[in-house]
Amino acid sequence: MNKVYDIKVNNKVVFVRVDFNVPIKNGVITNDNRIIQALPTIKYLLENNAKVVLMSHLGKIKHKEAPEVVEEAKKKNNLAPVAIRLSELLNKEVKFINATRGSELEIAIKELKAGEAILMQNTRYEKGEEKNDPELSAYWANLCDAYVNDAFGTCHRAHASTYGIPQFAKEANKEVAIGYLVEKEVNSLRKCIEAKEHPYVAILGGAKVSDKIKIIEGLLPKADKILIGGAMAYTFLKSLGYNVGNSLVEEDRVEFAKEMLAKANGKIILPVDHLVVDNIENYSVKKYTEDQNIGDGLIGVDVGPKTIEKYANELIGSKVVFWNGPMGIFEKDEFANGTLEICKAIAKLENCFSCVGGGDSASAVIKLNFADKFSHVSTGGGASAEIIENEGHLPGIDIIEG
Ligand code: ADP
Ligand code: MG
Repeated sequence: MNKVYDIKVNNKVVFVRVDFNVPIKNGVITNDNRIIQALPTIKYLLENNAKVVLMSHLGKIKHKEAPEVVEEAKKKNNLAPVAIRLSELLNKEVKFINATRGSELEIAIKELKAGEAILMQNTRYEKGEEKNDPELSAYWANLCDAYVNDAFGTCHRAHASTYGIPQFAKEANKEVAIGYLVEKEVNSLRKCIEAKEHPYVAILGGAKVSDKIKIIEGLLPKADKILIGGAMAYTFLKSLGYNVGNSLVEEDRVEFAKEMLAKANGKIILPVDHLVVDNIENYSVKKYTEDQNIGDGLIGVDVGPKTIEKYANELIGSKVVFWNGPMGIFEKDEFANGTLEICKAIAKLENCFSCVGGGDSASAVIKLNFADKFSHVSTGGGASAEIIENEGHLPGIDIIEG
């Protein structure tokens, strides 16, 4: 697969799909991590005298809604503030082009000098973007000499900017490549898929079994152990007949959980105790359980100390760790201990490749200040889950690799 540094970029118009889908409140960017993550590729291209045309989606625009609703969504999801922040981070002006097609964009591209960058308006201003519309894809592909995808967070979507452009560009014998961020993501996540090194321990948590069925199925043949936490654990425990009280359970997945446990031959490990409360928002009871049972009227909100010790022991000596899904309701500090302790246990491992995937898991690790203790913290929520489920494949990557 071509990397950005494999293709000819000198004096070429290079379209770069980045993930600038950042949170913006009242025109102010509240977290610029995604912009920062895209900098290595942008800097490389500028230093190597490319004419850089940056493109990204921002938020959601439903084109089927009434015209005034669409206009409102466009106003809310204007990419202009990103160009300002990006210019500051690069210490170099990145001109914002308030258009996704037409003469304004075309003239700006013609006037671009080598070593300069522009950012076009939100790709989702175009209703053909999410439909991977061939007319739009061909139009954009025609405007570039080469294409680079560095938007890992959207690689699981076959949209015009992630799939259509490289498809048409390749047909026109233009070079296509992945950027530094996508390269790191793919290499890291594929390590967790190829599972060449053992022991390999996966940790799965989060709210729902149903969200994770495919990941569990994908990891079962590869991992040596799968440690379960979060609300997901209660569906599994219920399937074994334990009392889970009022904890979050997916009744329609209890049967699946039971079958999975039978198939897993002891690979799936469940919590042995829990932190429970009588009410999540406003509790008068908060305690650890004695064992797996939660008790009538109580709600599991985190794993307990015995589970933490057991999981930390399971992790010792592992060579690969893949973690998806927090151990408890980590958004509340008083229920974040299990997630924190798992962070600590992973941070201690030596010679281990540790990878976190999933939107909430990544924010938990970042919030708890452990991001630099992991080999890789994925920037892709859905994309990191889907690449695991699909054996290392995503549409936005396959079109470049194939
Ligand atoms: P990711 O985004 O990393 O894939 P998920 O979206 O699957 O993770 O799960 C994250 C959510 O799971 C968090 O919002 C967290 O509060 C919730 N969660 C974890 N444990 C519990 C629990 N015991 N009860 C209810 N929700 C939980
Ligand atoms: Mg999530």
